[in-house]
Amino acid sequence: ATTEAISSTGARPVFVDIKPDTMLMDPEAVESAITPRTRAIIPVHLYGQPCEIDRIMEIASGHGLKVIEDAAQAHGARWRGNRVGSLADAACFSFYPGKNLGAYGDGGAVVSQDEDLIHRIRMLANHGRTDKYIHDIEGVNSRLDGLQAAVLRVKLTRLDNWNAARDRHARRYCEILSSSGVALPVVQAQAETVWHLFVIRVRERDRVQGDLKKPVTDAGLHDPVPLPGQPDYRRLGILEGALRVAEEAASCALALPMYGELTSHQIEAVEDAVSAATPV
Ligand SMILES: *Cc1c(COP(=O)(O)O)cnc(C)c1O
Repeated sequence: ATTEAISSTGARPVFVDIKPDTMLMDPEAVESAITPRTRAIIPVHLYGQPCEIDRIMEIASGHGLKVIEDAAQAHGARWRGNRVGSLADAACFSFYPGKNLGAYGDGGAVVSQDEDLIHRIRMLANHGRTDKYIHDIEGVNSRLDGLQAAVLRVKLTRLDNWNAARDRHARRYCEILSSSGVALPVVQAQAETVWHLFVIRVRERDRVQGDLKKPVTDAGLHDPVPLPGQPDYRRLGILEGALRVAEEAASCALALPMYGELTSHQIEAVEDAVSAATPV
């Protein structure tokens, strides 16, 4: 979804590598990828944790670039106390049912403090319409369904509580797995993550995933094929090894069960399966 948004404007996505500890966009890699043709940067607050946004904003302003946060996995997360969605020029949220704030079908939102931009986005999402019969520009049909909005309005009031429950489960996972040798998620000091996913890194990933396939638990592979490795992006000519850290992470990342309603019984079952794993 992140790069589709780029391509749909006629621009070409350029990938940069991630940091080995947090698995988030590496700001220094961003800086070295900038060319005179660069227009904008889209940091993804992956797995619920904000990117190093102040460094990214500093780089962007030095080069006259816009920054759009992909906050689709980070509803409610904070960087230095400020919520994601308020940290850059604009931000996008997804309300796909599996997100921390999910509708009962598809939905999404764009937020910005730039009123002209929001006016234009509202227009674009409604076929470019400015007045009852008048379409100033050609837009798309991307209105939020009223039924989904009604569900989201109610669920939004519970989001912080659900995120707090995820945080309790994450702390428990960290406690019980701290001596297991698997690589646990790293949270930056400035960040409050909302644990969209709790991703560990483990060498025998497939075996551990198999052990977790029990009635009470399950574990998921979320991005086993990094985006630049997708068949359609062969046309971009990205060389294998160019995004070494991301490729390495994709080969050993495993998402443990994570949602507010997780029980301690389930967490213990995860401990049994994971503690037998070999360290990365
Ligand atoms: C879910 C998601 C999106 C958006 O998905 P939609 O299907 O368009 O709602 C964008 N970026 C990331 C990182 C996501 O996880």
